[in-house]
Amino acid sequence: MLTGRTALRTAIVTLAAIAAGDVGAQTPAKDLFGNAPQPADLKARAIGTYARGCLSGGQPLAVDGPHWQAMRLSRNRYWGHPVLIRYLERLAKDAAEAGDWRGLLVGDLAQPRGGPMLFGHASHQIGLDADIWLTEMPKQRLSRLRRERMSTTSVLKKGTIEIDPRVWREKHARILKRAASYPEVARIFVHPAIKNQLCEWDGAGTGKARLWLRKIRPWYGHHYHFHVRLTCPSGYVGCKNQNPPPAGDGCGEALAWWLGPEPWAPPKPAAKPSKKPAKKPRPVTLAQLPKACTEVIEAPSPDGTPSRFASAESRIGPVNVPLPPRRPAN
Ligand SMILES: [Zn+2]
Repeated sequence: MLTGRTALRTAIVTLAAIAAGDVGAQTPAKDLFGNAPQPADLKARAIGTYARGCLSGGQPLAVDGPHWQAMRLSRNRYWGHPVLIRYLERLAKDAAEAGDWRGLLVGDLAQPRGGPMLFGHASHQIGLDADIWLTEMPKQRLSRLRRERMSTTSVLKKGTIEIDPRVWREKHARILKRAASYPEVARIFVHPAIKNQLCEWDGAGTGKARLWLRKIRPWYGHHYHFHVRLTCPSGYVGCKNQNPPPAGDGCGEALAWWLGPEPWAPPKPAAKPSKKPAKKPRPVTLAQLPKACTEVIEAPSPDGTPSRFASAESRIGPVNVPLPPRRPAN
């Protein structure tokens, strides 16, 4: 994680480069996209792939909805493609009305213009990914400070890959099943222990009714939150879907490897340790993103700011980050 001071320094260095007319195709894309405070005022488009692309016409998720609260606002990552915003609003409402889940605590979506981030997340670049906490929204509205500091709760027993029965409730299974049930959802990433818990849940269904489980994919981490990934909106050129998950519910044998020791073993030391220090991979540059991302980073903001570089002061730190609207009942 970058500290505030490091982030500030990065912003200043980037600004200095910008002032010197030094920004170009070779600039690390994360410096440009990670410091863009507002969306590109262009038609909404998810451009590229989940882990290499950008977002135009990004929309903010409201800080407060009747059935959700957005968290960690200072990161300015509550932006998404309109289909993602609609999905979150609908999931929150449907789950609350069914009595399954009081409301969502929503973590990172994407940056205002998507793209690579200064810290965290390889994906979340095209406005179709969202992290949702495995903790129900509290009854009260959280203050901005609480939204920064409130810690997340793991559903695993500490230091194990086993579900903690003191934390896990059937409602966790129900919100995950509901989240997977919408046709626009491509995948949901959860810890393998959570997938296993869902496979064994008697509410999972049988036969075809079980196939929502196909979208629930085991992955490292993801025991404090789950990660929803939507498919590219239909008719969009330049947004690239992942291959669909393998057929079947992904339980049993398909999950066995994840539940064994192999995925969690420390990496084996190389037979002949090299004396050279490992080379750090170079950060992805603007030139390595889809071409349309250059237009996205150069486009004006909706408030008329002529370009990303015009209002330099507003680009430093979270102080002037525009807040999305509060939203009345939907
Ligand atoms: Zn995520």
